[in-house]
Amino acid sequence: MNSGTIKPKTAEQIEAMAASGRVLAGALNEIEATVKPGVTTGELNEIAESYIRDHGGIPSFLGVPAADPGVKPFPGAICASVNDAIVHGIPGSAELQEGDIIGLDCGVILDGWHSDSARTLAVGEIGPDASRLLDVTRAALDEAICASVAGGHIGDIGAAVQKLVEDAGLTIVRRFVGHGIGRTMHESPQVPNFGRPGGGSVLVAGTTLAIEPMVNIGSAGVVFDNDGWTARTDDGSLSAHFEHTVAVTDAGPRVLTEVA
Ligand code: MG
Ligand code: MG
Repeated sequence: MNSGTIKPKTAEQIEAMAASGRVLAGALNEIEATVKPGVTTGELNEIAESYIRDHGGIPSFLGVPAADPGVKPFPGAICASVNDAIVHGIPGSAELQEGDIIGLDCGVILDGWHSDSARTLAVGEIGPDASRLLDVTRAALDEAICASVAGGHIGDIGAAVQKLVEDAGLTIVRRFVGHGIGRTMHESPQVPNFGRPGGGSVLVAGTTLAIEPMVNIGSAGVVFDNDGWTARTDDGSLSAHFEHTVAVTDAGPRVLTEVA
């Protein structure tokens, strides 16, 4: 796995990324408040896109080309990944059902700076296994953020996620990884959700990362829908995804994809 070269950002550039992240967090808050049974993922997509454009941003996922030239570019401002969908679900006419979980992933470009964040939400009342999956995945992201300190290593982040998730008896998706972020959505280095403490690139102040644990109840295997985008668990088990854009600073980790 390419750990890659980190491109540290200046304090000014980190502020610009935080401004992008505030627009993104606002958009995610808007759609979170809308999630309920009967709402379609297409409606959530429209709300997010309007919010981003109304706040001067560009929805960065819209029109992203697929790796496979036979697959159309991504058609949404958000990825909406329901139940066994891990990531990259295409928003559309499907209505959310009571008891579903939905992963909402979104990206913004503001003044040329990218931000990227995801959260997985309960639709109405969800079962205890689903609830625990969400709690563990959210906690794994929190642990990963705490590990994002100057002088540490990329491997510390993955190791923190791996320990928490595997101790909870859940499964890490290895097919997809977090990433550096800045002027482009995906920069070096890759940020796997598994690893060895002290492994990989050194985290220097100014490192900006999109950290994004993806966790399954069952198999770690991934299958794709015919749309070429939607990635699902190969055993139909539930999957959760949480993501923040984070800056490593001399004052500690700073989450950039929050409203305040
Ligand atoms: Mg994302
Ligand atoms: Mg990402």
